Amino acid sequence: MNRADSNSLIHSLQSEGFLETTEYIDSDIIIINTCSVRQHAEDRVFARVRLFNAFKKREKKSMKIIVMGCMAQTSKDRLYSLGVDKVFDVYNEIKILDYIKNDDLIENDFNSNYVFSKSYVDKLYTHKAFLPITHGCDNWCTYCIVPHTRGGLISRPSKDILEDLKSLIDSGAKEITLLGQNVNSYGEDTKDMSFVQLLEEVDKTINDSDVWIRFTTSHPKDFDKNLADAIINLKSVCEHIHLPFQSGSNRILNLMDRKYTIEEYLEKVSYLRNITKDFLISTDIIVGFADETDEEFTETLNVIKSIGFEEAYLYKYSERAGTVAHEKKIAYDPNNGSLRLSKLIEIQRAIALSLLTKQVGTFHKVMINSIAKDKNNYLGRTRENRSIVIRLNDDKVLKTGEIYNAKIIDIRGHSLIADII
Ligand code: SF4
Repeated sequence: MNRADSNSLIHSLQSEGFLETTEYIDSDIIIINTCSVRQHAEDRVFARVRLFNAFKKREKKSMKIIVMGCMAQTSKDRLYSLGVDKVFDVYNEIKILDYIKNDDLIENDFNSNYVFSKSYVDKLYTHKAFLPITHGCDNWCTYCIVPHTRGGLISRPSKDILEDLKSLIDSGAKEITLLGQNVNSYGEDTKDMSFVQLLEEVDKTINDSDVWIRFTTSHPKDFDKNLADAIINLKSVCEHIHLPFQSGSNRILNLMDRKYTIEEYLEKVSYLRNITKDFLISTDIIVGFADETDEEFTETLNVIKSIGFEEAYLYKYSERAGTVAHEKKIAYDPNNGSLRLSKLIEIQRAIALSLLTKQVGTFHKVMINSIAKDKNNYLGRTRENRSIVIRLNDDKVLKTGEIYNAKIIDIRGHSLIADII
């Protein structure tokens, strides 16, 4: 989401005549787009602000330091005390441009004036684009800072999304990711249309099998058979879903206020897997939340073993001030969290390796994303979002954003190696 927001702001600044620099010492304006999900991300921002401010003072530069994004909600006073010139509560491109050009602005209210920006193709990978469809979240999972920092759900009008989609396709986008904290909730606030209806409209608008649609993130409570059928039936929508289950224990899920049981989660996954075998499901897991017991951690391990995720983002619970869990003083043990995280990583890596090994010998459509750093291979992804290394072939130059038929011939580490056929 932040990458999409930054990309859009860069385009707006460039159209006003600003140039992007690669070194901060050359800058007149530094804009830091921030994330509050984990403490580590915030610590890095504080360190950067200190560095930029020290440079500004030492060199007596009139450089402006601006912070936008989630940290504006959690750390505004501290950021000002470290020398930031302006902190923006909500990402609002028009207000930021106003401030940069005119040096003043009317203070914006949290959330009430959120403005969706136009989307552009990615700067580095010009065949890829992120297209935000919602902002904020109404779910208030107890561990999560997002509703506090980004506010409640705001769905972007479908008309604007479809217009942006057409313009991205005209600009050469071949892989477009619809973005939101919980895309499945799309339209619940505006009653414009549901997420499934939006996907249908997107698919109709594309009408071209060479453009792939992805979306992230989904919430298991809102994921239903209609959505599963839509993903399978709509030509442009890729066969991959990121569906965070967070914990295998119903007590923990309840304390997280996730609003589903692990049995419901398993049933939804099995519906998808029964329709099509080669459907990649990735997930997020948090360990060490709310005095998680050994038995509850084992329940989480049982879920990853029974489902078999090729990809999982694994975290130790990190308490964030401002969350419901923090307010309610839900207890946790960081040491246990670290030990369990190491164990989980080890088991998940083994599961992923065994699943990836089964891919050797299979055929896939692969979209080329780039040439690898070693210049000996191309890198691409299948429709199911598997990362693939394609061996360079002297006879065939591949183009980024183009789709090729490939056969997986080997696995090295966790990388699938393929040849174009
Ligand atoms: S659904 Fe996602 S973004 Fe919303 S509160 Fe829960 S974890 Fe946070």
